Amino acid sequence: MTSNDAPKAAEPEKHATPLLDELETGPWPSFVTGLKRLRDAEGKSYAPMMNDLLGQLEHSYEKRMGFWKGGTVSVFGYGGGVIPRFSEVAEKFPASKEFHTLRIQPPAGYHYTTDLLRQMCDVWEKHGSGLIAFHGQSGDIMFQGCSTENTQKAFDEFNEMGLDLGGAGPALRTSMSCVGHARCEKSCYDEVKAHRSVINEFLDEMHRPALPYKFKFKFSGCANDCVNAIHRSDFAVIGTWRDAMKVNQDEVKAFVVGHGRKYVIDSVIAMCPTRALSLNDDDTLDVDNKSCVRCMHCLNVMTKALHPGDDRGVSILIGGKRALKVGDLMGTMIVPFMKLEADEDFEKLVEFGRRLIDFFMENALEHERIGECMDRIGLPAFLEAIGVDPDPNMVNHPRTSCYVRTDDFTDEAEKYFERKAKEAGLTVAAE
Ligand code: SF4
Repeated sequence: MTSNDAPKAAEPEKHATPLLDELETGPWPSFVTGLKRLRDAEGKSYAPMMNDLLGQLEHSYEKRMGFWKGGTVSVFGYGGGVIPRFSEVAEKFPASKEFHTLRIQPPAGYHYTTDLLRQMCDVWEKHGSGLIAFHGQSGDIMFQGCSTENTQKAFDEFNEMGLDLGGAGPALRTSMSCVGHARCEKSCYDEVKAHRSVINEFLDEMHRPALPYKFKFKFSGCANDCVNAIHRSDFAVIGTWRDAMKVNQDEVKAFVVGHGRKYVIDSVIAMCPTRALSLNDDDTLDVDNKSCVRCMHCLNVMTKALHPGDDRGVSILIGGKRALKVGDLMGTMIVPFMKLEADEDFEKLVEFGRRLIDFFMENALEHERIGECMDRIGLPAFLEAIGVDPDPNMVNHPRTSCYVRTDDFTDEAEKYFERKAKEAGLTVAAE
């Protein structure tokens, strides 16, 4: 009897998945199709795991309950970065009884080589389920579906490739930055350098959870905010400019000829939130740069005609987050403008990040995000604690706030600084 004649081990019977099958009938590609593809992969060690995973998922849909519980799984030297998942119905679905996720930090700007992607897939086919999500909301590459035994083996191979675990739990989380100045003409700073400078400095806070709760940095090159920094990060660094927007009047004219005046007026001029644009009779464009709030709308529509100015830098907004105690929050403007070009500028950014993390460590309650902490103690106390002077730019919706007159921001700010100086016992020079 040759080895070819030897009876093959009986393939496990595929679980019936009538409810999951429904999800494949809609117009969009379904994750169920992807899971089935992994289940049906011939000769792959992870196929039985994916079969039982689908079985458990179908069971969850039937019972309307999730059947995963957490636990503790880690790799040597790290306190986080692995999300443990143990099945509560392991006797029914033994092949997927452990289905942990390794969170791996992506390269800044998501610049991969195809060779690196292939290597990642090979490691995950060898040690995991073959299921990879690019990327989670924190920016991680999510390698989903690993047994406890294989977790260390998979991590070691990723580490050999130069990759590192991301954050999980009450820790600094994995960061993300948009593709930025490598490919995007709207980019206002070097996002990749900012991302790596900050995260390399705070790796300890990522790998050894010691914060009251999660803390995220995100980096967007302009106010289009392709990585959702303003509402998905505690510390959003968003590119902007403070001189005049660059206008190529020949391209404006060509755009008007190509699209018609009505289109330009309806889709660009009238859509400017601060009425900063006007189209002249000769089809040239005027921009009132003092009123422009750098929302990016007109630059996105007239891509050849309009560009960010030359005096570029970043705004820093603190406290964005999804729902928790006080509901969703957008970041609050804390640093309206900061240059980010020279090495010292990046050092200042890192130093400011350190100040924020120290404040967060010492003042936030357990399971409280920094945005909620700011909400609890109030903006004046927060600014004083982190050593930032109040600035009229921090006022939310100044044009619609009945407490703020738009024409006297500077006067009011000067009065505030005088008052603070008096409170501190300093002599204020008479005008
Ligand atoms: Fe108006 Fe936004 Fe264009 Fe500024 S960037 S002029 S605010 S549409």
